[in-house]
Amino acid sequence: MTEIFVGSGDADRSSSTAGASRDAHQARRVIDTAGDAGRASGATGMARDAGRASEAARAATPRDAIFANSLVVTLDQAAELPFAAQAVARIREAQARGSVSENVAVFPGFCDVHVHLREPGQSAKETIATGTRAAARGGFTTVCAMPNLDPVPDTLENLALEEALIARDAVIETLPYASATTTQAGAAITPIGELAQRAIGFSDDGHGLDDPDLMEAALREIAKAGSIIAIHAEDGALRPAGSSINAGPLAEKLGLIGIPKEAEYAQIARDLEILRRLAAENIFPAYHVCHVSCPESVELLTAAKAEGLNVSCETAPHYLLLDESQIPGDNGHFKMNPPLRKPSDREAIANALAAGTIDFIATDHAPHTAEEKARGLAGSAFGIVGIETSFALIDTHFVETGGITLERAVELFTTAPRARFNIPARAGDLTIWDLGADATIDPADFASKGRATPFAGWKVRARCLATFAAGREVYTGVGSPAEPGRK
Ligand SMILES: [Zn+2]
Repeated sequence: MTEIFVGSGDADRSSSTAGASRDAHQARRVIDTAGDAGRASGATGMARDAGRASEAARAATPRDAIFANSLVVTLDQAAELPFAAQAVARIREAQARGSVSENVAVFPGFCDVHVHLREPGQSAKETIATGTRAAARGGFTTVCAMPNLDPVPDTLENLALEEALIARDAVIETLPYASATTTQAGAAITPIGELAQRAIGFSDDGHGLDDPDLMEAALREIAKAGSIIAIHAEDGALRPAGSSINAGPLAEKLGLIGIPKEAEYAQIARDLEILRRLAAENIFPAYHVCHVSCPESVELLTAAKAEGLNVSCETAPHYLLLDESQIPGDNGHFKMNPPLRKPSDREAIANALAAGTIDFIATDHAPHTAEEKARGLAGSAFGIVGIETSFALIDTHFVETGGITLERAVELFTTAPRARFNIPARAGDLTIWDLGADATIDPADFASKGRATPFAGWKVRARCLATFAAGREVYTGVGSPAEPGRK
């Protein structure tokens, strides 16, 4: 028997998790059993394994490219898993034909804590069925769904509507957020204590939470419930009406109203003051900042971490790879909130990723209809899709270039978000990738209903070959049922 662990190192989990309530579920999951105690012996051993495996994964001796980071699986080993055997056989056939490279790696299923699946209420943009299929195509086996829905999951009753759709249509693990305030209106907090039993966390994503007293009340409840709040940091008073892109040279040139980065980091700074006051009372709510877009935000959070506050942040591939200088005129596919900032901001965010001060990657996958994204920068809806392109972009532009290691990249998509949000890896959640592909991002291939991406036409080296959720093949990138063909 082959021993294959899917799961994250436990070492730092207890200190970084959202709370104790889910600790019962934290046991490392094992797929396929047998006892090599050495491999299970905690973070240090696993880190060593990760180093070895990534050397092997990058070695020219191909075929059984390997990944590690608490998971050590070769293609040979994956073939021993009954649920994966057929897919591995198809991949080997494709390798023999030359349509898949010899550099194939098997990873634990990816986890994205920030996606918009648009159901209930906005199924013209996306559905749980299409959004989770898109996620599987991007290698994800767990997504956390943001609550800007209709109805907003702000009560158990409303949350139940979303849960029923998830139970019916999701092809991967889909964990809903509840909103932090009723209808996300920022006027009254939701019943956080009871919602925390069923929601992965709380967020008013799409809006800042401007009332400091309400924020403090929410944070106290979050701490009590052992949950986590995911913040869309944006001070409404610093965000001019009608603003659409970064306040900077491009906005001036195009005559558009800009969104200053102060709107983002000023609200973080305010929240950190609240967290410091709570810390003085020995209250440490888990506070996570979504989609940071400027170095000031990262610096504030890094300092707060050093003080012992329970804070973290994510960024998205577009803040790492794009800035306003790359916006090709009045194109709504480059519009999201926070907006693409200046080149120096992008560089600083990329450096923070390499330095480890950004905790993990999320996509902020935010699908809209084609019409909603065709109204130029001023008129288009905020948000781009990203779940089908994120890992390929990070692998191509950070791993291939030597900015970060492969094992760090995979950690950013697996153990890091899972540990922070207390989401155990599941047995049978795997994704298999060709890391030597010659692919082009083409929105026409997307499983998502949303097609608006600023990365259309970008070349990538990584392509998903198969994804399994709980032992079921939920994405097939090579072989039957239909070989999509290489691009
Ligand atoms: Zn947001």
